[in-house]
Amino acid sequence: MYHRLLACAPRTPLFVESLPANEASYRQNCVSPVEAIEFSEAARQRQSENTLKRLEQDVRNRQAKELGFDSCDDAEKAAEIFNLLKKQGKSPDVLLEENRARERRMERLIIDLSDTEQKGYEIRARSIRATGSTINPRTALRARYTTDDNKVQCQMCSKGMPFKKRNSDEDYFEAVEALGKGHFFKEHEAQYLALCPECAAEYKEYVKKDPKARETFHDALKNSDSPQIHLESHGRTIRIWFEDKHWQDLKTVLYYYENVYDPDGAD
Ligand SMILES: [Zn+2]
Repeated sequence: MYHRLLACAPRTPLFVESLPANEASYRQNCVSPVEAIEFSEAARQRQSENTLKRLEQDVRNRQAKELGFDSCDDAEKAAEIFNLLKKQGKSPDVLLEENRARERRMERLIIDLSDTEQKGYEIRARSIRATGSTINPRTALRARYTTDDNKVQCQMCSKGMPFKKRNSDEDYFEAVEALGKGHFFKEHEAQYLALCPECAAEYKEYVKKDPKARETFHDALKNSDSPQIHLESHGRTIRIWFEDKHWQDLKTVLYYYENVYDPDGAD
């Protein structure tokens, strides 16, 4: 048995000869001395190749980190995206500038919000919101949702408004605050939706008056990457979509409430 083990070991080929004759068939299954040496050489070579690959990978990762990436895999993906954009005729410089502009817009909005007072309510016969008139969401909404043919598009049904204002050529629409004081602590235009009269009524009834739908919508606004949200409320599916800048601003407002806002007024 000892001899058999040795015969199979690559580094002790000479012991093969000492096997008993009746074990010839077993010997056929073992490695010959030449094969054993070749096997050992191949293993050493594989080990060297693996070490070399690891070293090369370390160097590439280090170089990628110097360029601001987490790993060379990330750097390769970035290069692929860069080339893809160029192939599609999109300028990476323009996209970078758009992104920087978006970041500057976010910073400005957070500074504005920090300077804005909390929503104020006066106690009269019932609680009356006193700060609502400090902003004008209609102007921003009209600018964002007016199409090329001068129609204001509803953020729920996507249709143009059904009629114009009585004394002007402008479309009538309702500016509905998406959530109440439990979620929006300050006044801001981005918190409003542009809705046609029918959708405004549906939104108020099925979302604003329903605590569960309000929470679902709030979570979706915070967590969704898509500017289109679907809600289920009492058997109805409510779809709300956002124009790009409106969406970015609203996400920034929610980011501000969650990460910067101090309810005691010291943000
Ligand atoms: Zn509508």
